[in-house]
Amino acid sequence: MDRREIRFRGVGASPGIARGRLFCFMLPPPDVAARKVTDVDKEIGRFNAGLERTAQQLAEMGERISRELSPTIGQFLEIQVMILEDRELKTEVENFIKVYQTNSEYAFNEIMKRHSEKLLASKSKYFQDRTIDLWDLTHRVIRNLAGIKHTSVIDAPKRTIIAAHDLPPSEAALLNPEMVVGLACERGGETSHTAIMAKAFGIPAVLGVEGLMKRIQDNLPGIIDGYKGVVIVNPRPKTVSLYNHRIREIQSYEKRLDEFRGLQPFTKDGRHIELSANIELPAEVIAVKKNEAEGIGLFRTEFLYLSIGEPPTEEDQFEVYSWVVKELSPKPVIIRTYDLGGDKFIPDYEEANPFLGLRAIRFCLTEPDIFKVQLRAILRASHYGNVKVMFPMISTVEELKRAKVILKGVMGDLVREGVPFDENLEVGIMIETPSAALLADRLARYVDFFSIGSNDLTQYVLAVDRSNLKVAKLFDHFHPSVLRLIKSVIDIGHKHHIWVGLCGEMASDPFGLVLLLGMEIDELSMNPLAIPTAKRVITSLKIKDISSVVMRCLEYATALEVRRHLNKCLRSLLPEEVLGPPV
Ligand code: PEP
Ligand code: MG
Repeated sequence: MDRREIRFRGVGASPGIARGRLFCFMLPPPDVAARKVTDVDKEIGRFNAGLERTAQQLAEMGERISRELSPTIGQFLEIQVMILEDRELKTEVENFIKVYQTNSEYAFNEIMKRHSEKLLASKSKYFQDRTIDLWDLTHRVIRNLAGIKHTSVIDAPKRTIIAAHDLPPSEAALLNPEMVVGLACERGGETSHTAIMAKAFGIPAVLGVEGLMKRIQDNLPGIIDGYKGVVIVNPRPKTVSLYNHRIREIQSYEKRLDEFRGLQPFTKDGRHIELSANIELPAEVIAVKKNEAEGIGLFRTEFLYLSIGEPPTEEDQFEVYSWVVKELSPKPVIIRTYDLGGDKFIPDYEEANPFLGLRAIRFCLTEPDIFKVQLRAILRASHYGNVKVMFPMISTVEELKRAKVILKGVMGDLVREGVPFDENLEVGIMIETPSAALLADRLARYVDFFSIGSNDLTQYVLAVDRSNLKVAKLFDHFHPSVLRLIKSVIDIGHKHHIWVGLCGEMASDPFGLVLLLGMEIDELSMNPLAIPTAKRVITSLKIKDISSVVMRCLEYATALEVRRHLNKCLRSLLPEEVLGPPV
């Protein structure tokens, strides 16, 4: 084995730097060779028993994790249990065994291969990442069928960097930040469950590291640079001292962030800005609390649908929503109805131009039964805390009116059934299409709040696909056309006595935040990790000092001029440490 320093590149999936010893997590690939069986009924019985045993193991693990770690992480495993309990899947495998008279390991592997190919064929990175979850489940079932014992990350010694080809979600859920300091995997991407778990636990991670496992072994010293997506094995003394220096810098930066976490988001001249967090998965509630957000300003709800590839039941949704709401209570939680479509492909809804197609509210209005189930779950959850509901991608007044009629209908059903919910819950919309921004005065009559989606607003105003790298340079939320619309929406909202927030990436950009403060935004919602810095920015400024900066920016013709102006005026106004960690 090579003892020289080796550097690997991957995707920085969870920020931070870690030094430790490698622990190679390897599960032997299960034997899936085809074998003829003579007693098909007996084989089907063996298959069902294996499936049941696996479901039971996962359910127990889920329960333990829910109790000891986090209920939300336990839910990942519950989703896997749901897949195993799927009647159709069972029938598919049973039929395969009957027709081909093969052993269940082979049959199950073949059927799961078909499902995995479907996911891989999808254009969505999210779906492609889900194949990892599917294989985790498949191999667990097959190992159970063959009676093979599992190895687990739970056996990792202290100060460990876990190195794996692929860390299945059922193992990622067991990562213990007290023992595991870093993570490197050959597979997985930014949106994989492994990345989300690592972020939730605060464990630096680099994923997608090709060729890692072939060149390492247990116990070698290693460094994980989760900012740059670099894994270093056998670091030279010079590399170690460089990284030790970085670790010290980051520690002192994080210490400062710790101080900012507790700040109250008031400007120096006394204006309060509500600072909330965006979450995609319930597990992120950990980070929301740690960073002392004032609530959840955007709860994206697509994950449940996308992780099982079909509409989740009312009960499944209620359980997740009410858990988040109770965890945050009495702080507000804005639950956004499905924003499916666009880059979050839905099975059976392939479109030529998905961002301009049956996305978000358009999908919900086309599938009112799916929409109603979600609204029932949200309303029921509202009984347990402070819930607001928000419709995404509204582009016409008719859409909003129809969505509200459906909401009213669902409320009526719940009243008749005697199911409690918050009858006064606030209803808002995202302003993320040019049409909604231009019609804000008309839309304001029907809602309690606006939340500006600067990601989509920028995409649609500039006609730049937000996920297309070829035009990424043209995507700029500082473009004066976008800024003018945002300013106008805030002013119109205030004129109509409703509050206006913003939940796109612009809120976590310190310069963007300053501009929005100057435009008198009421609420900002962002990645929970960006909240301490945002608090620091807010508490270091006076609104009166930045109003003129905003006015000037609105007069420019290009995003470049806006950026230059912000750079010139704000570098001196903003504290140095808000401009990012020293990496
Ligand atoms: C936005 O468009 O700015 C937004 C917050 O919504 P999403 O990123 O989920 O589309
Ligand atoms: Mg959006």
